[in-house]
Amino acid sequence: MTLRSTGLSHDEIITTLQQMKVNDVRWRDGRAFTLAYSAGEDVLAVAEEAYRAFASENALNTDAFPSLRIIQAQVVDIVINWLQGDSSAAGFMTSGGTESILLAVKASRERGKKERGVTQPNVVLPTSAHAAFEKACYYFGLESRRVGVSEDWRANPEAMAAAVDDNTVLLVGSAPQYPQGVVDPIEAIAAIAAERDINCHVDGCMGGVSLTYLKRLGYTIPAWNFEVPGVTSISVDLHKYGYTAKGASVIAWRNKQLRSYQTYVTDNWLGGMYGSSGIMGTKGGGSMAAAWAVMNFLGDEGYMRVTLAARRAAEELVAGVLARPQLQLVAPPDSTLVSFRAADPAALDVFAIADGLWKRGWYLDRQGPPPALHCTVNAIHDGKIAPFLADLDAVLDELSGSSISGTQGAYGTIE
Ligand SMILES: *Cc1c(COP(=O)(O)O)cnc(C)c1O
Repeated sequence: MTLRSTGLSHDEIITTLQQMKVNDVRWRDGRAFTLAYSAGEDVLAVAEEAYRAFASENALNTDAFPSLRIIQAQVVDIVINWLQGDSSAAGFMTSGGTESILLAVKASRERGKKERGVTQPNVVLPTSAHAAFEKACYYFGLESRRVGVSEDWRANPEAMAAAVDDNTVLLVGSAPQYPQGVVDPIEAIAAIAAERDINCHVDGCMGGVSLTYLKRLGYTIPAWNFEVPGVTSISVDLHKYGYTAKGASVIAWRNKQLRSYQTYVTDNWLGGMYGSSGIMGTKGGGSMAAAWAVMNFLGDEGYMRVTLAARRAAEELVAGVLARPQLQLVAPPDSTLVSFRAADPAALDVFAIADGLWKRGWYLDRQGPPPALHCTVNAIHDGKIAPFLADLDAVLDELSGSSISGTQGAYGTIE
């Protein structure tokens, strides 16, 4: 399409855009078990208004926008406090989990090169660690050494230790890992890194907020944050269980020395000194302001409430899976991620279940190996599990005795 010669009116624009959404998943009604999060319309309203107020402000240089410097400093401080970091800890806001992870990998490479002269760096990480680490290794020229997980889907520290060599610049553990929702043995992984004085990144993109509050709600959560010696950096996505608008994550470092390897500075062009903390140049203020707004709107009490709501819904979903003999829970969830598969994959294609659910308006992630469905259960699902299970039963009935196969789908798209 080419651009129309005369513009549409404000009202026409907004109506047309709203109409484009007709076939989108109804995530505000709790129909999406992935990709979008909601802690209720009041929280969304605060996020959206704050976003709008800062949509065109630019955090590339906060000299011109001291507001964004304050917003970033306060948001990062709150997150460091959640992570049990001390006064030497420091961080930056990024555009998302992927950017936080790219920076953790890039900084590890720089540290290995500067402190130990490593020129062929590798990263040792479990097969369950997020695809973003693969992307980071690819972008920045590191070898990704994937190590198989244990029976319970958690990282296997002995096998990881065996994969480490003098060129290893980073070890990775997740809290929790995405596919099966279990927390890796962070203490054991961090100990391997500490012994060699190399970086250990904990991917808390999913769990950074929820594990923090589940622990305070009395759940038993193994140590996973800066409390653990040897952990050098942690990523926490605010646009997931922080319930803020899209485009907000934090990369937190144990100290500024470690963080210094993340930043980039050059004067090798005609435009003067150019420095940036992350991947982006121009950096929209909207997602930063929305994060500040939602965090201060919910407060500690609000996060206790919405975390409990998400956990309650996750437990209800787990009970629903366990009660259906055609299904099998992949792992008891440590936080709020629930994954299930067909008890007999030869008789029932789990992706056909996802197809049937999507026809009824429910969107789930399809993953593998092994083939399974994945539910990122959040606060909006509290009260939505019963209608979900009713539709799930209808789909299971429809598929029973048939040999209908489903479409595999993907977590992300390229077009
Ligand atoms: C979502 C997620 C990421 C990637 O974050 P994006 O915000 O999608 O870029 C990385 N790790 C884990 C565990 C995640 O859940």
